[in-house]
Amino acid sequence: MKPYQKYLLGLGMAGSLHLTACTTQTTTNTETMTTAQQAQQQVSEDVHSYAEPTKAVARHLDLDIAVNFDSKTISGTASYAIDNLAKGNEIIFDTRGLQIEKVFLGDNKEETTFRLGETDKFLGQPLYVTIKPETNRVTIKYKTSPDAAALQWLNPQQTAGKKHPFLFTQSQAILARTWIPIQDSPGIRITYNAKVSVPKELMAVMSAENPMEKNDTGVYSFQMKQQIPSYLMALSVGDMVFSEVGPQTGIYAEPATIEAAAYEFAEMDKMLVAAEKIYGKYRWDRYDLLVLPPSFPFGGMENPRLTFVTPTVLAKDRSLTSLIAHELAHSWSGNLVTNATWNDFWLNEGFTVYFERRIMEELYGKPYADMLAVLGYQDLTNTIKELGAESEDTRLKLDLEGRDPDEGLTDIAYEKGNLFLRHIEMAVGRERFDEFVNKYFNTFAFQSTNTDKFLEFLRTDLIKGDTELAEKIDIEGWVFTAGLPEDHIKPTSERFAQVEETYTAWKNGKPASQLITKDWSSHEWLHFIRMLPANMNQQQMQDLDKAFNFTNSGNSEVLAAWFIHAINNNYITADKALETFLTNVGRRKFLVPIYKALAATPEGKKKALAIYAKARPNYHAVSTVTLDEMLK
Ligand SMILES: [Zn+2]
Repeated sequence: MKPYQKYLLGLGMAGSLHLTACTTQTTTNTETMTTAQQAQQQVSEDVHSYAEPTKAVARHLDLDIAVNFDSKTISGTASYAIDNLAKGNEIIFDTRGLQIEKVFLGDNKEETTFRLGETDKFLGQPLYVTIKPETNRVTIKYKTSPDAAALQWLNPQQTAGKKHPFLFTQSQAILARTWIPIQDSPGIRITYNAKVSVPKELMAVMSAENPMEKNDTGVYSFQMKQQIPSYLMALSVGDMVFSEVGPQTGIYAEPATIEAAAYEFAEMDKMLVAAEKIYGKYRWDRYDLLVLPPSFPFGGMENPRLTFVTPTVLAKDRSLTSLIAHELAHSWSGNLVTNATWNDFWLNEGFTVYFERRIMEELYGKPYADMLAVLGYQDLTNTIKELGAESEDTRLKLDLEGRDPDEGLTDIAYEKGNLFLRHIEMAVGRERFDEFVNKYFNTFAFQSTNTDKFLEFLRTDLIKGDTELAEKIDIEGWVFTAGLPEDHIKPTSERFAQVEETYTAWKNGKPASQLITKDWSSHEWLHFIRMLPANMNQQQMQDLDKAFNFTNSGNSEVLAAWFIHAINNNYITADKALETFLTNVGRRKFLVPIYKALAATPEGKKKALAIYAKARPNYHAVSTVTLDEMLK
């Protein structure tokens, strides 16, 4: 996922499990893994799931559901092929807000008893299903609630086309259980088939093999042959069309958005080639994007085969496509090799940020990637400052027990994780490091792993008893200690050095209109805006805005950064644009700092509440959870 929780609450995750004899495994399907191998999977405890997969575990899901826009519900059956490993009489699934109607066993659907446990605010309710020692299939008939946290139901007004409603899911971290009864831990992997019925004028897509075109029955079938963790279950329904980019890549979007999206992401096929050159073959067949309406709360979500992406990266100049590199990189780090628990989230995100920047470097050169590294480092130091350098949440290995996994996960996992990997790369050289990472991805392919397993692999496959190297890498200092080790690399950028000179000239009185900013990318602009003093007078604000038209920028990153200055300096010229932005965009990364800046003064807070009352229906639950708390 690419949200960057720089400013406040983080994203969380939970889960855990691991395979023992994980020799290099290049195949992917359940069929190719024997039951004995599967049974060997050692599952460690996941504090964010009720499932007990060492006793009875799901292997494959057949989902048969209908999507009802009038009642804002999904109903149908989730039928699981299971392994009753302990030969006991119970299997446990995670649910939250689901209405469980009936549960059946076996292929002839013999009804069985079940009960729901107590409700936990974050975790929901365990579903205990009575099974027999020989049970190999459990079928659950269920219905979601209209306020299911994973589901966002948009009315036609909230879409780009304004004619049809739209639905999308966001299952990470532990929201899959709000739309499917499931063993909702990243340590458990399943394959799935799905049959989804939708209104005839709409089309359905999933994190699976997709239809590419609308049919006239409204019934769509899907297959996900590779094993995935539950947080990658994804569905979207709406008026959408498909546009091919390359032989293996393409884009789904509303008809009103498809042309802009096709232009913006025209280089995604090249990205895939660049990624494969660095860390080996892409293992998921196709790589497509789904461009969602603006209320999507994240930058992107790496749903396998079909990344969900915010339209706020449609900048018309392909300047924000590192987000696609990020989601694509997750096809290796995260989707292929998965954090076993949300405490190990840095394994997903640290590797992904590292790999994302390598892809950008491969495509656009080192000076370009260096800019991204510096911006990321700024985010990291801000996050550490906010959390406090002694905060336990600034360690890579987290402890989120008893907390919503959506809290406590911050830029640390992304940027400190990346910096640690860069640090190892510097210590051993890029060639040796790449060899190691390639081996890591191959060894743990289609498995979940945790921090301890990774460190063990690092010791046996890279450090290999070299005490000097071990000291240089300093696992303890990076992974288990708060803050940043003193010898960390501070990224620098030549292109930003030039921006800094320009900024200094402005600060020393040169009018904005005389500054040389030709060919600046949005990264240079962002660096410039971030450097601006916290306190500026109206004349300075006007000078900048007149020269660079920040208030009306078509670039969401530039806008969001500029609005912070506009709010802090009471620059009311930007008020209208600010309100439009907040009522249209649901991306939490932008919303949180803007509302926070507004809420800092009594008048600002009044303004914030007025806008929020109007805009809230456009936001996904993962955004409103944070904002409700902030603005209450
Ligand atoms: Zn990510």
